[in-house]
Amino acid sequence: MSEAKVSVLDWGFLHSDATYDTVHVWDGRFFRLDLHLDRFFRGMERLRMKISYSRAEIEGILANCVALSGHKSAYVEMICTRGASPTFSRDPREAENHFMAFAVPFGSVANKEQLERGLHIAVSDTVRIPPKSIDPSIKNYHWLDLVKGLFDAYDRGAETALVVDTDDNIAEGPGFNVFTVKGGRLRTPGYGVLQGITRQTVFDLCAELDWPVTIGDLRPEQLKAADEVFITSTAGGIMPVTKVDYEEIGDGKIGPVTRQLTDLYWGKHADPAWSTPVTYPDVPVERD
Ligand code: PLP
Repeated sequence: MSEAKVSVLDWGFLHSDATYDTVHVWDGRFFRLDLHLDRFFRGMERLRMKISYSRAEIEGILANCVALSGHKSAYVEMICTRGASPTFSRDPREAENHFMAFAVPFGSVANKEQLERGLHIAVSDTVRIPPKSIDPSIKNYHWLDLVKGLFDAYDRGAETALVVDTDDNIAEGPGFNVFTVKGGRLRTPGYGVLQGITRQTVFDLCAELDWPVTIGDLRPEQLKAADEVFITSTAGGIMPVTKVDYEEIGDGKIGPVTRQLTDLYWGKHADPAWSTPVTYPDVPVERD
């Protein structure tokens, strides 16, 4: 990892002109790799980027990164940057797009203690960059709003943040989507958010359980009045929230819906319909 490099002239670095995706490996298996690759290829197409690797080749590169790293639980990132033009042209059509991938140990939005007692979240009045500026369904590195939200949250003694959309509805957080549970019905914002793969996985689990989910606007008051709140991310899965802006959610404890979905979510990581095994080398990788 310490030898991975990107040119300072790459528009990915200079202008945040890039798309990426992150998939995780749990217990030696990729989770829903196909959905992550679909989103990554869709993003590149919308940004008019082209790389010379096929989907199968990228799958091979990602598996190789994990196998060579030896990590059994990993956070695996694939990135396509605009790159730079060989003649320093300012025309993005002339840039040579650049593909990169890496695997690092699995990381989570919430630590062990937070997973056991629920996260404390603050709602920042920072507005997430609107879809008319940046299409949020293209996974991107426009994070200044999310990072500002994080600092707002820390200033208020919270552990992470949610930012709002242009109508002050709840949007998403730094690297996660959000759900509420009220009277047995789940709700998650639909506007101005990344369509997370973990969010999709919650929809799929709810379909199996025959539980109703509504995709729609979520007011900050609705969030605070919910019976349960949880967030979803490849970096941690389904994670409970028990406090919003100093107020306890429900009875302040992790609720039964969140617990059941979390158990089902992790159970699916061994299911061949939802996961793909990584083949590790027999011989341990030698490191300097
Ligand atoms: N929203 C944003 C802004 C993200 O960056 C992410 C993931 O990094 C998510 C939501 C959650 O998406 P996923 O479940 O695909 O990890």
